[in-house]
Amino acid sequence: MENENLLAVAREFESPIYVYDSSKIISQYNRLSGAFKKVKQVKLNYAVKALSNIAILKLINSLGAGLDTVSIQEVQLGLLAGVKPEDIIFTPNGVSLEEIEEVSKLGVQINIDNLSILEQFGAKHPNTPVCIRINPHVLAGGNSKISVGHIDSKFGISIHQIPHILRIVENTGMTINGIHMHTGSDILDVEVFLYASEILFETAKNFKNLDFIDFGSGFKVPYKPGDIETDIEEFGEKLTKRFNSFCKEYGKELTLGFEPGKFLVSESGYFLAKVNVVKQTTSTVFAGIDSGFNHLIRPMFYNSHHEIINISNPKGKERFYSIVGYICETDTFATNRRISEINEGDIIAFKNAGAYCFSMASNYNSRFRPAEVLWHNGEAHLIRKRETFEDLTKNQVDIDIFAKTTETV
Ligand SMILES: *Cc1c(COP(=O)(O)O)cnc(C)c1O
Repeated sequence: MENENLLAVAREFESPIYVYDSSKIISQYNRLSGAFKKVKQVKLNYAVKALSNIAILKLINSLGAGLDTVSIQEVQLGLLAGVKPEDIIFTPNGVSLEEIEEVSKLGVQINIDNLSILEQFGAKHPNTPVCIRINPHVLAGGNSKISVGHIDSKFGISIHQIPHILRIVENTGMTINGIHMHTGSDILDVEVFLYASEILFETAKNFKNLDFIDFGSGFKVPYKPGDIETDIEEFGEKLTKRFNSFCKEYGKELTLGFEPGKFLVSESGYFLAKVNVVKQTTSTVFAGIDSGFNHLIRPMFYNSHHEIINISNPKGKERFYSIVGYICETDTFATNRRISEINEGDIIAFKNAGAYCFSMASNYNSRFRPAEVLWHNGEAHLIRKRETFEDLTKNQVDIDIFAKTTETV
């Protein structure tokens, strides 16, 4: 998106605000599906938790994608957005049998990631086919908080427990119609992904009634100019060959699935904030903005890098700034970053603000969560209003039982 369009959005809807460029989401979707055009049946299920605004779900669904969900509320959001239940997969971790049953009743494909629930669900609902999440024990991913496929991970059923799975399937008479893995985010190395895929193929041979194999997600996107990213085209070419030969061996045309979150929406997003204060100390120049980790927690949570540009003064002389938020704790977005000269009142833009940004925002410090805008065909569409004071209080119960003490004891 052009700077002037971002500025116009900030002027019209004020800051702080999230802006999503639909054209980037569309081009990322086309890139990923294009990389697998030689597979007969491909299903991309967008991971709702990355960015769950209904307008975004509608946009992505209109491209042909389904949804990957991790809570019954995400399922309900998907249904509200008009996504068909058969285009939704439910991949929770550690949720109750009751929640899984409720989601299953809605007609959504269930993906189970532990033996206990598999056994209980299979015993009660032997006629509902389920997918199982396998943990291939591959160390992948850029960061300990987002790497989820390794041996100590809480996710998935270990490949060493396949005999247990088979015993449960036999005892309950249930059907396994899909197998799945998701090894974490920011996977750079295509070979690591392919290696994990081999483990999944090996596992698949144990199950005779599969309809699909879901390879999860975790594609890395660039965060700054020159940054490396997953080579989707190379990956597509290699996995396509392997997948098609596996289908021959298996004796059935299976569906190849992915659940991209970050890949589809990260780069589409911009977070706009206004600089309230420029504060020069003896060592640092701080720019304090009208936001904090309550709105964008990724830098504080897992040291994520977001490019920051001063869209009010993009051609100014570059200086070093530390960009900080207003939360009354350490609240740093960036340290000693080269940014074109910042004056109080300027609007700065954080890039890669589409995935895990608004969806992780909170009301900490009793601040309103930001508004959201979708930029589509050259027009700004408000897709979430800024919160109001009523939003902060509407669920609070004022019990009013404390008599005011008038005299000091
Ligand atoms: C979070 C998640 C994804 C999406 O991961 P990205 O790195 O955002 O692409 C996919 N599948 C499952 C099961 C997830 O939990």
